[in-house]
Amino acid sequence: MTPQTQAASLESPEYLRISLAAAMTLGIAPGWFYRNASLRCINLLMTYDEGCAANCSYCGLQRHREGSYEGKSFIRVPWPVISLDEVIARSRERLSVVKRVCLSTITHPRMAQDARVILERLHQQLPEAPISVLSNPTLLTREDLEFYRGIPIDRLGIAVDAATRPIFDHHRAKDVQGPHRWSRYWRFFEEALEVFGPNRVGIHLIVGLGETEEEMIRLIGRIRQAGGSTHLFSFFPEAGSRLAPHPQPPVGQYRRVQLARYLIDEDLASAEEFAFDGRGQLVSFGAAGERAEQAAATGTPFMTSGCPDENGAVACNRPFGDCAPGDDIRSFPFQPDDDDLALINQQLIAYC
Ligand code: SF4
Repeated sequence: MTPQTQAASLESPEYLRISLAAAMTLGIAPGWFYRNASLRCINLLMTYDEGCAANCSYCGLQRHREGSYEGKSFIRVPWPVISLDEVIARSRERLSVVKRVCLSTITHPRMAQDARVILERLHQQLPEAPISVLSNPTLLTREDLEFYRGIPIDRLGIAVDAATRPIFDHHRAKDVQGPHRWSRYWRFFEEALEVFGPNRVGIHLIVGLGETEEEMIRLIGRIRQAGGSTHLFSFFPEAGSRLAPHPQPPVGQYRRVQLARYLIDEDLASAEEFAFDGRGQLVSFGAAGERAEQAAATGTPFMTSGCPDENGAVACNRPFGDCAPGDDIRSFPFQPDDDDLALINQQLIAYC
Protein backbone atom coordinates (compact mmCIF):
# COMPACT_ATOMS: atom_id res chain seq x y z
CA MET A 1 0.00 0.00 0.00
CA THR A 2 1.02 3.57 -0.51
CA PRO A 3 0.18 6.57 1.71
CA GLN A 4 -3.15 8.15 0.92
CA THR A 5 -3.00 11.62 -0.52
CA GLN A 6 -6.78 12.16 -0.69
CA ALA A 7 -7.65 11.96 3.01
CA ALA A 8 -11.04 13.65 3.04
CA SER A 9 -12.77 10.87 4.97
CA LEU A 10 -9.79 9.02 6.36
CA GLU A 11 -10.00 9.87 10.03
CA SER A 12 -8.74 8.65 13.37
CA PRO A 13 -8.88 6.19 14.98
CA GLU A 14 -8.57 4.03 11.84
CA TYR A 15 -6.25 6.50 10.13
CA LEU A 16 -3.36 8.66 11.25
CA ARG A 17 -0.85 11.01 9.78
CA ILE A 18 2.79 9.95 9.91
CA SER A 19 5.86 12.18 9.86
CA LEU A 20 7.81 12.12 6.63
CA ALA A 21 10.86 10.88 8.54
CA ALA A 22 8.86 8.04 10.09
CA ALA A 23 7.36 7.24 6.68
CA MET A 24 10.92 6.91 5.37
CA THR A 25 11.85 4.68 8.32
CA LEU A 26 8.89 2.40 7.54
CA GLY A 27 9.70 2.28 3.83
CA ILE A 28 6.53 4.17 2.85
CA ALA A 29 8.19 7.33 1.51
CA PRO A 30 11.35 7.33 -0.60
CA GLY A 31 14.39 9.35 0.39
CA TRP A 32 17.49 9.34 2.52
CA PHE A 33 18.56 11.35 5.53
CA TYR A 34 21.32 13.97 5.33
CA ARG A 35 24.55 12.59 6.85
CA ASN A 36 22.94 9.17 7.26
CA ALA A 37 20.82 10.21 10.20
CA SER A 38 18.13 7.70 11.07
CA LEU A 39 14.90 7.90 13.04
CA ARG A 40 13.94 5.17 15.50
CA CYS A 41 10.62 6.59 16.72
CA ILE A 42 7.44 6.38 14.65
CA ASN A 43 5.78 9.76 15.12
CA LEU A 44 2.03 9.64 14.46
CA LEU A 45 -0.53 12.43 14.46
CA MET A 46 -4.30 12.06 14.85
CA THR A 47 -6.30 13.25 11.88
CA TYR A 48 -9.85 14.60 11.33
CA ASP A 49 -11.50 16.32 8.41
CA GLU A 50 -12.18 19.38 10.58
CA GLY A 51 -8.52 19.62 11.61
CA CYS A 52 -7.25 21.08 14.85
CA ALA A 53 -9.46 23.57 16.69
CA ALA A 54 -6.51 25.35 18.30
CA ASN A 55 -4.75 28.29 16.75
CA CYS A 56 -1.14 28.34 17.93
CA SER A 57 0.61 30.99 15.90
CA TYR A 58 3.78 29.01 15.14
CA CYS A 59 2.07 25.74 14.21
CA GLY A 60 1.42 24.49 10.69
CA LEU A 61 -1.92 23.03 11.81
CA GLN A 62 -3.31 26.31 13.18
CA ARG A 63 -7.02 26.83 12.57
CA HIS A 64 -6.59 30.10 10.70
CA ARG A 65 -3.98 28.85 8.27
CA GLU A 66 -5.42 28.64 4.79
CA GLY A 67 -5.95 25.28 3.14
CA SER A 68 -7.46 21.94 4.03
CA TYR A 69 -6.24 20.08 7.07
CA GLU A 70 -4.85 17.19 5.05
CA GLY A 71 -2.90 19.64 2.90
CA LYS A 72 -1.23 21.37 5.84
CA SER A 73 2.39 20.70 6.61
CA PHE A 74 3.48 20.19 10.21
CA ILE A 75 7.04 20.95 11.26
CA ARG A 76 7.53 22.05 7.64
CA VAL A 77 7.00 18.66 6.00
CA PRO A 78 3.93 16.81 4.72
CA TRP A 79 2.51 14.11 6.98
CA PRO A 80 0.96 11.43 4.73
CA VAL A 81 -2.20 9.69 5.91
CA ILE A 82 -1.82 5.99 6.68
CA SER A 83 -4.02 3.36 8.27
CA LEU A 84 -3.27 2.19 11.79
CA ASP A 85 -3.19 -1.37 10.40
CA GLU A 86 -0.38 -0.43 8.04
CA VAL A 87 1.62 1.36 10.76
CA ILE A 88 1.47 -1.76 12.88
CA ALA A 89 2.24 -4.18 10.05
CA ARG A 90 5.21 -2.20 8.76
CA SER A 91 6.58 -1.59 12.25
CA ARG A 92 6.38 -5.30 12.99
CA GLU A 93 8.56 -5.92 9.93
CA ARG A 94 11.16 -3.46 11.25
CA LEU A 95 11.41 -4.16 14.97
CA SER A 96 15.20 -3.92 14.83
CA VAL A 97 14.82 -0.25 13.85
CA VAL A 98 11.56 0.86 15.49
CA LYS A 99 12.37 1.56 19.15
CA ARG A 100 9.38 3.69 20.09
CA VAL A 101 6.02 4.90 18.79
CA CYS A 102 4.59 8.32 19.68
CA LEU A 103 0.98 9.39 19.22
CA SER A 104 0.50 13.16 18.95
CA THR A 105 -2.98 14.37 19.82
CA ILE A 106 -4.76 17.41 18.40
CA THR A 107 -7.59 19.58 19.66
CA HIS A 108 -10.73 17.83 18.41
CA PRO A 109 -13.88 16.68 20.26
CA ARG A 110 -13.34 13.00 19.40
CA MET A 111 -9.65 12.98 20.20
CA ALA A 112 -9.77 11.67 23.78
CA GLN A 113 -11.91 8.61 23.02
CA ASP A 114 -10.08 7.82 19.78
CA ALA A 115 -6.64 8.13 21.39
CA ARG A 116 -7.58 5.39 23.82
CA VAL A 117 -8.56 3.08 20.93
CA ILE A 118 -5.33 3.74 19.04
CA LEU A 119 -3.08 3.33 22.06
CA GLU A 120 -4.69 0.07 23.13
CA ARG A 121 -4.29 -1.36 19.64
CA LEU A 122 -0.68 -0.22 19.37
CA HIS A 123 0.14 -1.90 22.64
CA GLN A 124 -1.76 -5.11 21.87
CA GLN A 125 -0.37 -5.55 18.36
CA LEU A 126 3.07 -3.98 18.78
CA PRO A 127 3.99 -4.80 22.38
CA GLU A 128 7.73 -4.70 21.64
CA ALA A 129 7.73 -0.92 21.10
CA PRO A 130 7.39 1.44 24.06
CA ILE A 131 4.72 4.05 23.45
CA SER A 132 4.65 7.80 24.15
CA VAL A 133 1.68 10.15 24.01
CA LEU A 134 2.21 13.80 23.14
CA SER A 135 -0.83 14.86 25.10
CA ASN A 136 -3.34 17.70 25.02
CA PRO A 137 -4.02 19.13 28.50
CA THR A 138 -6.94 21.18 27.19
CA LEU A 139 -9.06 18.11 26.41
CA LEU A 140 -7.56 15.27 28.44
CA THR A 141 -8.29 14.46 32.07
CA ARG A 142 -6.61 12.70 34.93
CA GLU A 143 -8.77 9.66 34.06
CA ASP A 144 -7.21 9.63 30.60
CA LEU A 145 -3.76 9.68 32.18
CA GLU A 146 -4.66 6.77 34.43
CA PHE A 147 -6.05 4.86 31.44
CA TYR A 148 -2.80 5.43 29.53
CA ARG A 149 -0.64 4.31 32.41
CA GLY A 150 -2.72 1.16 32.75
CA ILE A 151 -2.17 0.11 29.11
CA PRO A 152 0.80 0.71 29.86
CA ILE A 153 2.05 3.82 28.11
CA ASP A 154 5.50 4.52 29.54
CA ARG A 155 6.12 8.20 28.64
CA LEU A 156 3.99 11.28 28.40
CA GLY A 157 4.91 14.47 26.56
CA ILE A 158 3.31 17.86 27.12
CA ALA A 159 3.99 20.53 24.49
CA VAL A 160 3.96 23.68 26.61
CA ASP A 161 6.29 25.21 23.99
CA ALA A 162 6.35 28.75 25.47
CA ALA A 163 8.65 29.51 28.40
CA THR A 164 6.53 32.25 30.01
CA ARG A 165 2.86 32.91 30.55
CA PRO A 166 2.77 36.12 28.44
CA ILE A 167 4.40 34.30 25.51
CA PHE A 168 1.99 31.39 25.94
CA ASP A 169 -1.00 33.76 26.02
CA HIS A 170 0.29 35.62 23.00
CA HIS A 171 0.89 32.60 20.79
CA ARG A 172 -1.49 29.93 22.08
CA ALA A 173 -4.25 31.42 24.20
CA LYS A 174 -6.20 34.62 24.44
CA ASP A 175 -4.24 36.74 21.93
CA VAL A 176 -4.98 34.20 19.17
CA GLN A 177 -8.44 33.16 20.41
CA GLY A 178 -6.95 29.77 21.24
CA PRO A 179 -8.44 27.31 23.73
CA HIS A 180 -5.28 26.50 25.70
CA ARG A 181 -4.59 27.84 29.19
CA TRP A 182 -1.19 28.17 30.86
CA SER A 183 -2.56 27.20 34.30
CA ARG A 184 -4.24 24.06 32.90
CA TYR A 185 -1.00 22.92 31.26
CA TRP A 186 0.94 23.10 34.53
CA ARG A 187 -1.86 21.50 36.55
CA PHE A 188 -1.88 18.69 33.98
CA PHE A 189 1.91 18.36 34.40
CA GLU A 190 1.39 17.85 38.16
CA GLU A 191 -1.32 15.26 37.49
CA ALA A 192 0.90 13.48 34.96
CA LEU A 193 3.75 13.30 37.48
CA GLU A 194 1.38 11.85 40.07
CA VAL A 195 0.14 9.20 37.64
CA PHE A 196 3.35 8.38 35.73
CA GLY A 197 5.93 9.08 38.43
CA PRO A 198 9.26 10.90 38.06
CA ASN A 199 11.36 10.77 34.88
CA ARG A 200 8.45 9.76 32.67
CA VAL A 201 6.99 13.14 31.78
CA GLY A 202 8.70 15.39 29.22
CA ILE A 203 7.84 19.02 28.58
CA HIS A 204 8.39 20.30 25.04
CA LEU A 205 9.81 23.83 24.98
CA ILE A 206 10.70 25.96 21.94
CA VAL A 207 13.67 28.33 22.19
CA GLY A 208 13.21 31.59 20.33
CA LEU A 209 9.61 32.67 20.88
CA GLY A 210 10.74 35.82 22.69
CA GLU A 211 11.94 34.52 26.04
CA THR A 212 15.36 35.21 27.55
CA GLU A 213 17.89 32.45 28.17
CA GLU A 214 17.39 33.00 31.90
CA GLU A 215 13.60 32.53 31.66
CA MET A 216 14.01 29.34 29.66
CA ILE A 217 16.75 27.84 31.82
CA ARG A 218 15.03 28.64 35.11
CA LEU A 219 11.86 26.96 33.80
CA ILE A 220 13.88 23.89 32.79
CA GLY A 221 15.24 23.85 36.34
CA ARG A 222 11.74 23.98 37.87
CA ILE A 223 10.57 21.16 35.59
CA ARG A 224 13.51 19.03 36.70
CA GLN A 225 12.93 19.79 40.38
CA ALA A 226 9.33 18.63 39.99
CA GLY A 227 10.46 15.30 38.48
CA GLY A 228 10.08 16.00 34.75
CA SER A 229 12.54 16.66 31.97
CA THR A 230 12.66 18.96 28.96
CA HIS A 231 12.58 18.12 25.25
CA LEU A 232 14.05 21.16 23.56
CA PHE A 233 13.44 22.62 20.12
CA SER A 234 14.89 25.62 18.29
CA PHE A 235 12.13 27.74 16.75
CA PHE A 236 12.08 27.21 12.98
CA PRO A 237 9.39 29.11 11.09
CA GLU A 238 6.61 27.20 9.34
CA ALA A 239 5.65 28.66 5.94
CA GLY A 240 2.03 29.81 5.96
CA SER A 241 1.83 30.14 9.76
CA ARG A 242 1.46 33.54 11.39
CA LEU A 243 5.02 33.26 12.70
CA ALA A 244 6.46 32.53 9.26
CA PRO A 245 8.37 35.86 9.24
CA HIS A 246 9.70 35.37 12.79
CA PRO A 247 13.48 34.68 12.78
CA GLN A 248 15.17 31.62 14.25
CA PRO A 249 16.93 32.34 17.55
CA PRO A 250 20.67 33.02 17.30
CA VAL A 251 22.46 29.69 17.31
CA GLY A 252 24.53 30.73 20.34
CA GLN A 253 21.35 31.20 22.37
CA TYR A 254 20.21 27.72 21.44
CA ARG A 255 23.59 26.12 22.18
CA ARG A 256 23.76 27.67 25.67
CA VAL A 257 20.23 26.55 26.51
CA GLN A 258 21.00 23.07 25.15
CA LEU A 259 24.04 22.76 27.39
CA ALA A 260 22.18 24.10 30.42
CA ARG A 261 19.29 21.71 29.79
CA TYR A 262 21.63 18.75 29.59
CA LEU A 263 23.37 19.65 32.87
CA ILE A 264 20.04 20.13 34.63
CA ASP A 265 18.25 17.05 33.25
CA GLU A 266 21.27 14.80 33.86
CA ASP A 267 21.39 16.13 37.44
CA LEU A 268 24.89 17.51 36.89
CA ALA A 269 23.94 21.06 37.92
CA SER A 270 21.01 23.20 38.97
CA ALA A 271 19.88 26.43 37.36
CA GLU A 272 20.70 28.29 40.59
CA GLU A 273 24.41 27.75 39.92
CA PHE A 274 24.33 29.65 36.64
CA ALA A 275 24.85 33.41 36.14
CA PHE A 276 23.03 35.66 33.66
CA ASP A 277 23.70 39.21 32.49
CA GLY A 278 21.23 42.10 32.51
CA ARG A 279 19.66 40.89 29.24
CA GLY A 280 19.11 37.41 30.66
CA GLN A 281 21.92 35.84 28.63
CA LEU A 282 23.77 32.95 30.25
CA VAL A 283 27.31 34.14 31.00
CA SER A 284 28.62 31.50 33.42
CA PHE A 285 27.90 27.98 34.59
CA GLY A 286 29.38 29.01 37.94
CA ALA A 287 30.48 26.09 40.12
CA ALA A 288 29.34 23.75 37.33
CA GLY A 289 31.81 25.27 34.85
CA GLU A 290 34.11 22.26 34.66
CA ARG A 291 31.17 19.87 34.34
CA ALA A 292 29.81 22.05 31.55
CA GLU A 293 33.13 21.92 29.68
CA GLN A 294 33.36 18.16 30.05
CA ALA A 295 29.77 17.66 28.90
CA ALA A 296 30.18 19.99 25.92
CA ALA A 297 33.27 18.08 24.79
CA THR A 298 31.18 14.90 24.39
CA GLY A 299 28.74 16.60 21.99
CA THR A 300 25.81 14.83 23.63
CA PRO A 301 24.16 18.00 25.03
CA PHE A 302 23.65 19.22 21.47
CA MET A 303 21.83 16.13 20.29
CA THR A 304 18.02 15.93 20.12
CA SER A 305 16.38 15.55 23.52
CA GLY A 306 13.41 13.20 23.50
CA CYS A 307 11.94 9.94 24.72
CA PRO A 308 14.39 7.06 25.05
CA ASP A 309 14.61 3.48 23.82
CA GLU A 310 14.79 0.57 26.26
CA ASN A 311 18.51 1.28 26.86
CA GLY A 312 18.06 4.95 27.70
CA ALA A 313 19.39 6.33 24.39
CA VAL A 314 17.16 8.90 22.69
CA ALA A 315 14.85 7.06 20.27
CA CYS A 316 12.88 10.14 19.22
CA ASN A 317 15.70 12.04 17.55
CA ARG A 318 13.46 13.82 14.98
CA PRO A 319 16.07 14.34 12.20
CA PHE A 320 16.06 17.99 11.10
CA GLY A 321 12.85 18.74 12.95
CA ASP A 322 14.10 22.18 13.95
CA CYS A 323 16.47 23.06 11.11
CA ALA A 324 17.07 22.35 7.47
CA PRO A 325 19.54 19.62 6.53
CA GLY A 326 22.86 21.46 6.03
CA ASP A 327 25.48 23.34 7.99
CA ASP A 328 23.15 25.01 10.53
CA ILE A 329 22.09 21.93 12.50
CA ARG A 330 20.29 22.90 15.70
CA SER A 331 19.41 19.56 17.38
CA PHE A 332 21.85 16.91 16.16
CA PRO A 333 20.08 13.64 15.27
CA PHE A 334 23.45 11.87 15.50
CA GLN A 335 26.64 12.25 17.50
CA PRO A 336 28.40 15.48 16.45
CA ASP A 337 31.81 14.81 14.88
CA ASP A 338 35.05 16.73 15.50
CA ASP A 339 34.20 19.42 12.92
CA ASP A 340 30.75 19.85 14.46
CA LEU A 341 32.27 20.17 17.93
CA ALA A 342 34.73 22.81 16.79
CA LEU A 343 31.83 24.84 15.36
CA ILE A 344 29.67 24.30 18.46
CA ASN A 345 32.47 25.60 20.70
CA GLN A 346 32.62 28.81 18.67
CA GLN A 347 28.83 29.11 18.70
CA LEU A 348 28.63 28.76 22.49
CA ILE A 349 30.63 31.94 22.99
CA ALA A 350 30.63 33.85 19.72
CA TYR A 351 26.97 34.64 19.02
CA CYS A 352 24.60 36.61 21.14
S1 SF4 B 1 10.01 13.42 22.62
FE1 SF4 B 1 9.22 12.42 20.79
S2 SF4 B 1 8.37 10.49 21.53
FE2 SF4 B 1 8.57 11.82 23.31
S3 SF4 B 1 6.57 12.89 23.49
FE3 SF4 B 1 7.93 14.21 22.28
S4 SF4 B 1 7.49 13.69 20.14
FE4 SF4 B 1 6.70 12.00 21.42
